[in-house]
Amino acid sequence: MEELVLTEPNEETIVEEQAPKKVNVDLGVPKTQRKRLVIIGGGFAGIHLVKKLSKSSYQVVLIDKHNHHNFQPLLYQVATSGLEADSIAYPIRKVLSDHEDYHFRMGEAQEIKPHEHVLVTDKGSIAYDFLVIATGAKTNYFGMENVAKHAYPMKSVAQAMKLRNTILENYEKALLTNNLDEREELMNIVIAGGGPTGVEMAGALAEFKRYIMPADYPDLNIERSKIYLVELLPELLPPMSDEASKKSEEYLRKMGVIIKTETKIEDYDGQVVKTDKGDIPSRMLIWTGGVSAASIPGLPDEVMAKGGRIKCNGFGQVEGFERIYALGDVAQFHSEEFPKGHPQLAAVAVDQGEFLGKHFSRMHKGEDLKPYKYNNKGSMATVGRSKAVVDLPNWKFQGAFAWFVWLGVHLFSLIGFRNKIVTFTNWVSNYFSRDRHSRVIIKD
Ligand SMILES: Cc1cc2nc3c(=O)[nH]c(=O)nc-3n(C[C@H](O)[C@H](O)[C@H](O)COP(=O)(O)OP(=O)(O)OC[C@H]3O[C@@H](n4cnc5c(N)ncnc54)[C@H](O)[C@@H]3O)c2cc1C
Repeated sequence: MEELVLTEPNEETIVEEQAPKKVNVDLGVPKTQRKRLVIIGGGFAGIHLVKKLSKSSYQVVLIDKHNHHNFQPLLYQVATSGLEADSIAYPIRKVLSDHEDYHFRMGEAQEIKPHEHVLVTDKGSIAYDFLVIATGAKTNYFGMENVAKHAYPMKSVAQAMKLRNTILENYEKALLTNNLDEREELMNIVIAGGGPTGVEMAGALAEFKRYIMPADYPDLNIERSKIYLVELLPELLPPMSDEASKKSEEYLRKMGVIIKTETKIEDYDGQVVKTDKGDIPSRMLIWTGGVSAASIPGLPDEVMAKGGRIKCNGFGQVEGFERIYALGDVAQFHSEEFPKGHPQLAAVAVDQGEFLGKHFSRMHKGEDLKPYKYNNKGSMATVGRSKAVVDLPNWKFQGAFAWFVWLGVHLFSLIGFRNKIVTFTNWVSNYFSRDRHSRVIIKD
C-alpha cells in the first residue's frame, strides 16, 4: 500500500493547483468579503460541519440533491411501517435559518474542476475558496446488473417509502391470487446483507409478520410468508464482536427468520433470487449488501482509494489539493490506527464534521492545527423489542438494557426537537400496542 505522509496544509502541499481563472459562476450566491466554503452533502458529516461553523467568518454554501437531512439508521423503520418518513428527515434550510451568510442550494454536484476552483452542478457552477466533499456512500451491487435492476435499495427516504409501499402491495396482491406459488413469491422477503441494516430490517419484518399480518391479512396463511437473511460471510454483524453476532443470530432464528450465511446471491430476475446454495422465490429482494463511496468526478485517480473513497491527509485535506477536503463515508483519512479508513458510520461522520469545523476556525485564527483522531464510540444493532446488541470499547452487552441504550442513542442523535418527540411518541405507542401505525400505501 502506498505510504501516506501526514502534512499540515502549507504551500508545499499544493502540487497541482494553479491560479483560478475568472469565471462568472455562483449559483446566485452573493459575493461577500468572506472566503467561500462550499460543502457538498447535508448528511451527518456536512450538517455537523455546518453547525460547527455557525459563528465562523466564512461564507458557507451547502449543496445537496435533497432538501432534507436523512437519518439513515432509522430508514428501516420507515420501510417497515414503524415511523412516518418525516420523523427521520429534517429540512436542511431549517438547520441554516439562524446562521449568517449561509446559503443552501438544492442540486446535484457533477464535477469538480480543481484547477479552476469551481464545482459544476446540474443547476450551474459555483466558485469556491474551499470545497468539502461529504457525499457519503451509494449502494454497491458488485456489478450484478439484474440485481441492480430488480432489487430494492435503502439509502434514501424515498427508497424506504417505496419499500414500504411494495411490501404492503405485495400482501394485497397475494390475497388476489389462487396460485399458491405466486402467493408465496409475493409473501416471501429476502434481505441481502447480514450487517446492522440487514439484521434490523429482518427483525422488524419478523415482528410485522407476527403481530400485524394475522390481524390485517386473516385470509393469508402467514406460515407461507418467509423472511430470509442472506449473508456471504460465516457470521452476521461481521464488524461487531462474536458475542453480538451469535446473539443476533439466536434472536432472529427464534423470531422465525431463515438465516443463510456463507451464501452468495448471484442473480435476481424480480421473481427468483438465485444463490450458490439454491433458489428462493421472492418478489422482494432488499439490498443492504454493500456500499461504495459516492465521490464526484474531477479528482485524479491517484487520490482514489479502494471502494471509491478519497485519500486525505490527517486533516481531511484531499492529497495534493490544499483547498479541497473530504469527510465521512466518502473520505479515507490518513490514520495509523485505521489504515483502510475509518469505519463508515454515522458517529465517524459526525465526529469528522465537527473536527473540520474546528479546523477551519483554527486555520482562520492562525492557530496550531491538530490532525483528526477518532475515539471509538462502539457500535450497536437492534433486532426487535427488548433485543439489541451493543459493543462498547470495554463492555459488550445484549438484551433489554442494550435495547434501551440503542433507543436512547438513536433518539438523542436525531436532528430536530420535533423529530425526537414524534419518534419517541411512536416508539412508546408501538411498545404498548405492538402496532405499526404507518402501514399505508402512499403513491401516485
Ligand atoms: C440503511 C442504513 C442504516 C444505517 N445504520 C447505521 C447505524 O445504525 N449506525 C451508524 O453509525 N451508521 C449507520 N449507517 C451508516 C451511516 O448512515 C453513514 O455512515 C453516514 O450517513 C455517513 O455520513 P455522511 O455524511 O458521510 O454521508 P450521508 O449521511 O450519506 O450524506 C451524504 C449526503 O450527500 C448528498 N449527496 C450525495 N451525492 C451528492 C451529489 N452528487 N450532489 C449533491 N448531494 C449529494 C446526499 O443527498 C446526502 O444528503 C447506516 C446507513 C444506512 C444506509
